[in-house]
Amino acid sequence: MGATSVASAAAARDGAKDELAADATGRGQILLVDDECSIARAYARTLGAAGFTVETANDGKSAAAAARARKFDVIVSDITMPGMNGLELLRAVREHDLDVPFVLMTGGPAVDSAVRAMEYGALRYLIKPVAPAELEEVVTRAVRLHQMARIKREALDMYRLDGKALGDRTALEARFSRAVETLWIAYQPIVSWSRRSTFAYEALVRNEEPTLRSPPDLFEAAERLGRLEELGRIVRDSVAKTLDEQPTPELIFVNLHAMELADDSLIAPGAPLSRHAGRVVLEVTERAPLEQIHDVTTRVGQLRALGYRIAVDDLGAGYAGLTSFAHLEPEVVKVDMSLIRGIDRSPMKQKLLGSIVGLCRDLGIEIIAEGIETVDERDALVRVGGDLCQGYLFARPDRPWAITNFGK
Ligand code: C2E
Ligand code: MG
Ligand code: MG
Repeated sequence: MGATSVASAAAARDGAKDELAADATGRGQILLVDDECSIARAYARTLGAAGFTVETANDGKSAAAAARARKFDVIVSDITMPGMNGLELLRAVREHDLDVPFVLMTGGPAVDSAVRAMEYGALRYLIKPVAPAELEEVVTRAVRLHQMARIKREALDMYRLDGKALGDRTALEARFSRAVETLWIAYQPIVSWSRRSTFAYEALVRNEEPTLRSPPDLFEAAERLGRLEELGRIVRDSVAKTLDEQPTPELIFVNLHAMELADDSLIAPGAPLSRHAGRVVLEVTERAPLEQIHDVTTRVGQLRALGYRIAVDDLGAGYAGLTSFAHLEPEVVKVDMSLIRGIDRSPMKQKLLGSIVGLCRDLGIEIIAEGIETVDERDALVRVGGDLCQGYLFARPDRPWAITNFGK
């Protein structure tokens, strides 16, 4: 048992990983996994007769190896198998293939395994014995969905930045290098309205490469080129240089890409920004999940030991869960501007922000409202108990240190 074997007479594939598997072999390539050889053979015959190319595996481990080596359009797997079961196989495959549809089969329906199957991204959950017509129908549909998923992912990859094709890697490298050469940091005041004073500045990256002007595009390009850590370091070193050369008493807020949390240079006591840590608040956005970062809590502890404080950025724009709070235990929360925009005309937004302000007060967390553009938005914030704000009403991001406008 354990070896995989080609169970249909359809043409063998060379297995090039990046091609759409269904292209070369009629209706598509199926990996069928069942520890009972007779069942695997019967299902393979059904699908083979329907025009699919079927490869069978009799245990999870060899199926995982086959899925790593070749592209399949659909994986159909039994759940209960000795060794690696169907759910574990699904998880192993998802580590390197986010798209391939997974159909799980089981002899005895169990609610918890069905729920887990769906959580791990299984497409269908079938109860055995599965009728040939049902198997063919489910697999046919899954192949189409897979093709759709691949096409969508390719389109996304191609048109991510500004709706323009990214072009080849060399071109992106050149544009990214131009962005880095012209990189500078803008600072936007964060103000206390009650005191009419500047409480802090947020550092925001800027560059003169026209196709990578927006910071999220710049960071996405860095991610694709594997140069995220380098970009984060350049930003942090640049902020540190400004603090060395043009000291200012206010706090400085610096955005961190979630991946930067894994960079050892961030926690190095000798790093240029570490020397200013006592005045720096690191912003971690709620938009990106922190789950992929190894041991976030330890990292955050190390940052605090250096003197840094932590802010959750873009509250209300990301995941509904509380994972960022639990991991980060922030000193500061920044409410996303989507919750601020038009707040003076939205009783719902006022109620929400009022609750956030009250909760943060109870927890001893400072709260900053981002993107205040009008006097009415500012006044609505003050009415629900807020005070710290940031937005075009006071100042746009600018060279250090921008003048704050308290005039209105
Ligand atoms: P963010 O950290 O939430 O920054 C606030 C964004 O809102 C900034 O956009 C700022 O220019 C903009 N903004 C401030 N006040 C107003 C306002 O009143 N109205 C409107 N409509 N916008 C306002 P920016 O600079 O384009 O940055 C976008 C995002 O890119 C930032 O969102 C942050 O997540 C990321 N980013 C910017 N600089 C850096 C950086 O140095 N490192 C990292 N990791 N991320 C950065
Ligand atoms: Mg920010
Ligand atoms: Mg924000």
